[in-house]
Amino acid sequence: MCCENIKFISTFVVLKVESTMINPIIDTAELNKLKHAIEAVTRIVITCHKRADGDAIGSSLALCRVLRLMGKNATVIIPDQLAQSLTFITKGIDYVTFSHGEVMASNIIRNTQLIFALDYNNLSRVDRMQPIVEAAQVPKILIDHHLNPAVGWDVVISHPEMSSTCELVYRVIMAMGWQQHIDKTVASCLAVGIMTDTGNLAWSSSYPEVYHIMGDLMQYGIDKPFLYKMAMDTLPLNSLLLQSYALLHKMTITDGRFALIVLDKHDLETYNYKTGDTERLVNKPLSVNEIYWSTYLREDASCIKVSMRSEGDFAVDELCSQYFNGGGHKHAAGGEFHGTIEDCIALYDKIVDEVIKNESK
Ligand code: 5GP
Ligand code: MN
Repeated sequence: MCCENIKFISTFVVLKVESTMINPIIDTAELNKLKHAIEAVTRIVITCHKRADGDAIGSSLALCRVLRLMGKNATVIIPDQLAQSLTFITKGIDYVTFSHGEVMASNIIRNTQLIFALDYNNLSRVDRMQPIVEAAQVPKILIDHHLNPAVGWDVVISHPEMSSTCELVYRVIMAMGWQQHIDKTVASCLAVGIMTDTGNLAWSSSYPEVYHIMGDLMQYGIDKPFLYKMAMDTLPLNSLLLQSYALLHKMTITDGRFALIVLDKHDLETYNYKTGDTERLVNKPLSVNEIYWSTYLREDASCIKVSMRSEGDFAVDELCSQYFNGGGHKHAAGGEFHGTIEDCIALYDKIVDEVIKNESK
């Protein structure tokens, strides 16, 4: 009787998370190398790409928290200012912004024993951190879902077929047997990255396991509607007005199919632009059925930032790598142009002419 009672109570008190059987897609040799590398060190740095998105910051913070719960001295270092709209996921996990204190951040990198590279495939994506990371003579571990990883990593966990780096980090945690260190904070970070990289499971997620993984994450008590609202559906007023202005006055459409939005310095100043204020703007023209290629050019202080989105067979990663020193995914890519906004628009016009010419071949 007594024992039965204890059993009864324990089923309600103990949080038992049943994880789904996930196919072991990650190469065992790479996992073994990762295991040995982690066992051998205490100080770990986790990096992600500049202008971090939800997947980059979510995967970095989640992995950092798991490593800290394992007793490691882990630090997330992001290259530049995090968009205000993403700061809600950083609650409870500190991180270092390289551009805010290069000396301090460089020292952490110089003293670390291991470096993770999350959500990017080439060290050029960490911007001014690149030479310091390159100089560090420590194991470097890539976990990423972009095509064509650069060479030179000690461990390569690269799966372009995955929705997000957050999904991959979850798979790594499970494969390494670290699941007891997943808590609500870790699960929330991972869920945000999966949501933002898939448009809340609209694209890059047409396979059952990504839903099973979201289901697993929900068992940790994540507040999915809150995370969705904060990550996907919240804009400051100036940002809403800037985006509305951009669509109304700064969008041109070629041939009814290709949209171009250009925001110059003056536009950005007028609407008090801050990092992240035009997040998801480039997706908006694709709501029009006939438009399947959307480009957004923004005149930043150091370059013209290029963002492209597409649908169907039209691939934008190749265009971004060929013309804008960038890359990304088939339907979501970006790059940079170094020159005037007028020259960048002229190059875009040339690309449009090429695309149309190639169609008629
Ligand atoms: P976004 O347009 O939101 O900045 O980026 C969309 C996708 O393109 C992301 O997967 C991002 O990693 C990639 N991307 C954006 N900018 C760059 C860039 O300058 N270089 C490379 N290689 N990829 C980029
Ligand atoms: Mn990603």
